[in-house]
Amino acid sequence: MRYLIIGTGPAGIAAAEKIRGLDEENEILMLTSEEIAGYSKPLITYFLGRKVNEDRMFYRPPWYFEERNISVMTSTKVIEVNPAKKLVITESGEAINYDRLLIATGGLPIVPEIEGLNPSEMEGVFTFTQWKDSKDVAKYITDNDVTEAVVLGGGLIGLKTTEALLELGLKVSIVELSDRILSNTFDKKASMIVTSALQKRGCNVYTNDTIVQVKGKKKITKVVLKSGREIKTKLLIIAIGVKPNVGFLKESGVRVNRGVVVNEHMETNITDIFAAGDCAEFYDPRLGKSSTIAIWPVAFSEGEVAGYNMAGERVSYQGGIPMNSVEIAGVATISVGNTSAEVENVEILEYESDKRSVYKKLVIKDGKLVGAVFVGDIDRAGIYTGLILQKVDVSSFKDDLMRDDFGLVYLPKEYRKKLMEGELKVWLE
Ligand SMILES: Cc1cc2nc3c(=O)[nH]c(=O)nc-3n(C[C@H](O)[C@H](O)[C@H](O)COP(=O)(O)OP(=O)(O)OC[C@H]3O[C@@H](n4cnc5c(N)ncnc54)[C@H](O)[C@@H]3O)c2cc1C
Repeated sequence: MRYLIIGTGPAGIAAAEKIRGLDEENEILMLTSEEIAGYSKPLITYFLGRKVNEDRMFYRPPWYFEERNISVMTSTKVIEVNPAKKLVITESGEAINYDRLLIATGGLPIVPEIEGLNPSEMEGVFTFTQWKDSKDVAKYITDNDVTEAVVLGGGLIGLKTTEALLELGLKVSIVELSDRILSNTFDKKASMIVTSALQKRGCNVYTNDTIVQVKGKKKITKVVLKSGREIKTKLLIIAIGVKPNVGFLKESGVRVNRGVVVNEHMETNITDIFAAGDCAEFYDPRLGKSSTIAIWPVAFSEGEVAGYNMAGERVSYQGGIPMNSVEIAGVATISVGNTSAEVENVEILEYESDKRSVYKKLVIKDGKLVGAVFVGDIDRAGIYTGLILQKVDVSSFKDDLMRDDFGLVYLPKEYRKKLMEGELKVWLE
């Protein structure tokens, strides 16, 4: 009996851990196309910015797998899955059989078509989704005396990369197609605080714009924006998003929409094949629709559920919510849940302090807190996150929610009791 897991990100690792917890005997084999397993992707920008060293990158070091009798094959890329024969084919032509298979291949960076751009041939153009990218960019900066960079995309990965480049002393220009940075989670006010903090650190932020041409022969020398602006640069980071990494499943019969379609047990349409993490599209029966939430905690939880079910314990995934916590240009930010004001029938509570560069927004729907944004002051964000995750009716203490000292003491007795009894652990996390 062999459990085969493609991918050593949080989804794959969480699954392997749960399987081993339930099944001490059978083989668990993990494959990764990368040279290293068990490192933390959210830290690769901090590694570039020299804020974390190599040791801290491993949240599951190599001995961890050995100790649990989990085998890992690195630099092994799967190019095909054959469910009829229950095997996968690797790039080197090896056939590896499985009894139960987990697809946990994460996301692939999206690279737009731009005149003059061929990232595999032009030096100085990088995407930024793997530890190797971080090392390659660091080396390129040193080898080429890079002092300025352009980052295409003002989302989470683009801004985290910008932060790292600023730490290294580079002058950075961000080019963002939408009218503001972090547009998926932030409204204009929240974006403006972060934008002006970036500008104070010498960063250019060009919104409502994009790159239409890249110049340079062997190495990039310049980018041309839609607005006509030209920016000289030796380094371009493309960070406009990721898409589920599912191309190798084309002939497999595994149902793929945007990602691999899974039910609440993380099962695909094919028996004994499961999927989890950024590559999976979870059908949420409560919402009646599928979605992919490409964040670490969701990937980990989905992996855990997949692991339980692969090892024979029937467990259902309850669905996740978007959640991000990031410090940009010295401004701490957190966004949780549905933060968009465009959602129908919502009530918005806001607090703003220009002096302190602080902004807080809460989104309430049907008496429940469904989203929150904190910029500049993230104290107590955990309590609001708990209220969102637990779907607590906040109607009775709504007026207290925006108090500066809002805390557990303002919650109704019944909730505090549940908290004391450990039923609502998440509130304290
Ligand atoms: C720069 C950056 C910063 C981020 N910051 C945050 C953050 O602050 N907070 C947050 O919540 N999330 C963050 N994320 C997102 C988070 O890292 C992902 O959501 C999470 O890693 C997804 O986990 P996963 O297991 O689904 O896939 P991944 O972690 O992407 O792992 C995929 C695995 O599959 C392997 N693989 C892929 N294709 C193949 C193949 N064909 N054959 C064999 N192996 C294959 C890869 O080598 C890898 O081991 C960040 C991501 C990036 C890139």
